[in-house]
Amino acid sequence: MTEIITLDGPAASGKSTLASKIADKVGGFYINTGDMYRTLTWMITEKNLDLEADRSTIISLLKELYIHYEKCDENHMQLICDGKPVDQKKIRNPEITKKVSQVAAIPEVRDWMVKCQRKCTEVGLVVMEGRDIGTVVFPDAHYKFFVTASPLVRAQRRLSQDGEVTENATVEKVAEDIAKRDELDMNRKIAPLKQADDAIFVDTSDLTVDQAVDQIVNFVNEKKSSIHA
Ligand code: C5P
Repeated sequence: MTEIITLDGPAASGKSTLASKIADKVGGFYINTGDMYRTLTWMITEKNLDLEADRSTIISLLKELYIHYEKCDENHMQLICDGKPVDQKKIRNPEITKKVSQVAAIPEVRDWMVKCQRKCTEVGLVVMEGRDIGTVVFPDAHYKFFVTASPLVRAQRRLSQDGEVTENATVEKVAEDIAKRDELDMNRKIAPLKQADDAIFVDTSDLTVDQAVDQIVNFVNEKKSSIHA
């Protein structure tokens, strides 16, 4: 069985911050699958491809594209696309954020991406975050979490992240954009965002980052002891 901790949840729920800190604490590698979908969205945008009219070109593109995580030092992995490290500024801007859920809803894209994601675990213990990691990518994982926070808290958190929202964005507008993306992610036909039946629900609205990290790491350690008892 794959040694993997999965964190799924809606947009701006704090998964990335938690997953990266949890990986440091448990000595695992952090993998952000949202960044993989964003990278593909960026490639499509760079090539000026229309998501509807150029659908078959997009699907053909997948045959020659390789998006994966590669070990860059003892403890970290780096996202690589076509042999080059991915620039976070290019994939985490509002233009890409607006399109990414439509790209992620394309069935052929999901099939292809799940294969790329499963390959990322060859390095050992991995903390992987996304929308369908506990339900579809690694349904057999031992340690599964569903992380969320109230819409207001999520909008406030997103607003405070540099480069992720348009200039002059308000909490209301950010909350609206997040809700739109969640709606698309929860209602797509394939691998919609939902809590796995065996995932632990973690509401981080009233928790500090350290409290949420400790809660999850404690649970992992307890479960690990019971598995190895
Ligand atoms: O995590 P992040 O918000 O960066 O993810 C961007 C988008 O990528 C999500 O809104 C979703 O449409 C898509 N995604 C997905 N499945 C994943 C991870 C992300 O569909 N496992």
